[in-house]
Amino acid sequence: MKTQTKITQSNLTPQIAHNILVEGNMRFVANLKAQRNLKEQVFETSSGQYPFAVILSCIDSRVPAELVFDQGIGDIFSVRVAGNIINEDVLGSIEYACKVAGSKIVVVMGHTKCGAVTAACNGVELGNITTLLSKIKPAVSKYKKDNTNFTDEMIEDVSLENVNVSIKKITKESSILKDMEANNEIEIIGAMYDVNTGKVEFLNN
Ligand SMILES: [Zn+2]
Repeated sequence: MKTQTKITQSNLTPQIAHNILVEGNMRFVANLKAQRNLKEQVFETSSGQYPFAVILSCIDSRVPAELVFDQGIGDIFSVRVAGNIINEDVLGSIEYACKVAGSKIVVVMGHTKCGAVTAACNGVELGNITTLLSKIKPAVSKYKKDNTNFTDEMIEDVSLENVNVSIKKITKESSILKDMEANNEIEIIGAMYDVNTGKVEFLNN
């Protein structure tokens, strides 16, 4: 698998970038890693990086973006924060990836059995975690009635809704990314990672 260059990156469309991720996850699930010389990729990317995708995902140790999409050095920007929430620093990172560094696709990837989403559903309050979880609350409130006991299934629904909330926030709070999407310079799409199977399911926005 070749390292991304300025030319290969500029030849990509959002649709091709999407397909690269789909194919990478298929390889991961089938345990068929593409041949890469990571050491060589360190050398090849030393003078510049041309990643084709930016993935916003959770800090969960089971969801490392590069591995689950079978990508190498210099392929993707990986933005990770518990519960894949949006704040202005996250938005700034995504704007940098797309507008400055030329990435073609933004994926907001939630996952099953997410501890952050579970904690938000259970109303956990602890230190700075409280502030973080408050950003997942809009997704929780869609399902929470008085005295709701969240089942595992409901928590997965909240995780999905939480991805949708983040997707909507991206275009609502970033005119740069909204304009790039409108001009077909980038695709912004949600996804869910299944920690049982390793499979990424892309969502239809
Ligand atoms: Zn998580």
